Amino acid sequence: MKALVYTGTQEVQYREEPSPVQPLDGEALLHIDACGLCGSDMHAYHGLDARRVPPLILGHEATGVVQNGERTGERVIVNPLISCGCCFDCLNGRTNLCAERELIGMRLAGAFAEQIVVPEKNLLAMPADMDVAHASLTEPTAVSLHCVALVERVLARPISEARTLVIGAGAIGVLAALVLQSKGCSEVYIGDTNALRRATAEKYNFGHVYDPLSAEPEAGSFDVVIDAVGSGRTRASSSQLVKPGGVICHAGLQDDADGLDTRRLTLQEVTFIGAYTYSVADLMASIDAIYSGKLGSLEWLEKRPLSDGGSAFADVHNGVTGAPKIVLYP
Ligand SMILES: [Zn+2]
Ligand SMILES: [Zn+2]
Repeated sequence: MKALVYTGTQEVQYREEPSPVQPLDGEALLHIDACGLCGSDMHAYHGLDARRVPPLILGHEATGVVQNGERTGERVIVNPLISCGCCFDCLNGRTNLCAERELIGMRLAGAFAEQIVVPEKNLLAMPADMDVAHASLTEPTAVSLHCVALVERVLARPISEARTLVIGAGAIGVLAALVLQSKGCSEVYIGDTNALRRATAEKYNFGHVYDPLSAEPEAGSFDVVIDAVGSGRTRASSSQLVKPGGVICHAGLQDDADGLDTRRLTLQEVTFIGAYTYSVADLMASIDAIYSGKLGSLEWLEKRPLSDGGSAFADVHNGVTGAPKIVLYP
């Protein structure tokens, strides 16, 4: 089969790879229809993700058609997070915290390929007429829904009344802004240092768009800050921009360095939440939100053939695309 293989720092190759081994009982062989390019794939591409060791087929935001067993022919969306299913966290629906968790495209082969084998329990039913690019947004949308759900749990007022800010106009940030809007938030700010991404954010009304490098919004003025970048700089901004008693949701994984003003967080009783991936319930809610149109037009998605995957990685790396998400088609 053809696959896009991460072979070393800033290097991916579209090439012939052995097809996946025959599925065992409880496993499904899928033909992949579409798979989104994620910030975490970029992190690997930059050689910064110790968990993703080349050579490796990346990609985990996948949708496809089952090719074996009782569900042959069924169109499905992949839950790429494989968990044990029987530990305390799994049994409580918090599969993202399972100590045994695995993600496809991390240690296991990913979905930038024509075929993949995944556990059958990781297949989610896809509405028959759902666009495959939209379906591939299920996973990143679930991340954003998860962030907003965690925020709502601790926020002292309804989220619809909150003044909110999202740092980063990549897919997670954009989808977080759209989720906030879908919940009736009238004040959503979104910042990005990339002018092309800001232009996309303005074109599609993701919120009040700003450039963090030229003018940050007023300090201490946001009930909610979602950091979809996760760098020392964005943590410093989050610390300053959040209101007393507000909530910071940290979802980005750009670096592990400092940035948080823990003194201000303490004195102003700011809640800081780390958010990682999603539960199965978040994935189901995500399919519903996308399919029902709650998140508005998804025309900002960019589609490319998997054979052009090398250019997609390079373009995101070089900051020359304004698309918050590129979806690759094998
Ligand atoms: Zn992802
Ligand atoms: Zn578990």
